Amino acid sequence: MNNILQQIHQINVRIQNACMKAGRKTNDIKLLLATKTVAPEQIKIAIEAGCTLIAENKVQELKEKFDALNSVSHTNHFIGHLQTNKIKDLLKYNVSCIQSIDRLDLALKLQQRLEFENKTIEVFIQVNTSNEESKFGVNPQNAIELVKQVAQFENIKIKGLMTIGLFSAEIEKVRPCFQLLKNIQQQIVDLSIPNVEMKELSMGMSGDLETAIEEGATIIRVGTAIFGQRMHPDSYYWNETSR
Ligand SMILES: *Cc1c(COP(=O)(O)O)cnc(C)c1O
Repeated sequence: MNNILQQIHQINVRIQNACMKAGRKTNDIKLLLATKTVAPEQIKIAIEAGCTLIAENKVQELKEKFDALNSVSHTNHFIGHLQTNKIKDLLKYNVSCIQSIDRLDLALKLQQRLEFENKTIEVFIQVNTSNEESKFGVNPQNAIELVKQVAQFENIKIKGLMTIGLFSAEIEKVRPCFQLLKNIQQQIVDLSIPNVEMKELSMGMSGDLETAIEEGATIIRVGTAIFGQRMHPDSYYWNETSR
């Protein structure tokens, strides 16, 4: 069997086991493929195997792979740090959800462009639950305020929250990040803010997806465990100065 198909199988087994342990239904967990640095031919294999939810971190990569992936039906999310000057470009590539909205000026520019194009888009608010300088996301203390502000933009539909969490092999240090995201989600639900849905929690990656599922993830984002190690360290993608 192809390696990618084998790894997808492995991930599905891990999801099933984690769901069993947490008393959750596997149907409630969506597997998103983080496809940064992965070639379209590889991504196609995964999509054809049924993993139809994929996401890039950079508009440039989204653009480069767009034509090659056009022949296979799939859903595109965006999970990378987004600069305001890339919004216009991003909207050309059929992205249904931007998971990385983390500041008001970004949301404002997005709203303006959407209005101009007469489009709407789904977003998640990205929260920096680990408080590491190197990661993006709104500070947990400011997350609710940001949700309230973004909720006023008519063309933007808030569907949930996203976090990367602490990058650590010690799972018990990662867990509080996921618990914090869940806690913020619940606070937002309790506020019943108009134009805000809070069903989705995007958290958990190759190394910590079980913990994320235990703590309430509805979307897990998996890259290396399916496609293998990347050439670039993640700091290349998670750093402000990177291209
Ligand atoms: C790369 C990436 C992932 C996937 O990470 P892996 O450890 O390769 O599974 C998830 N979320 C974001 C935002 C990423 O950039």
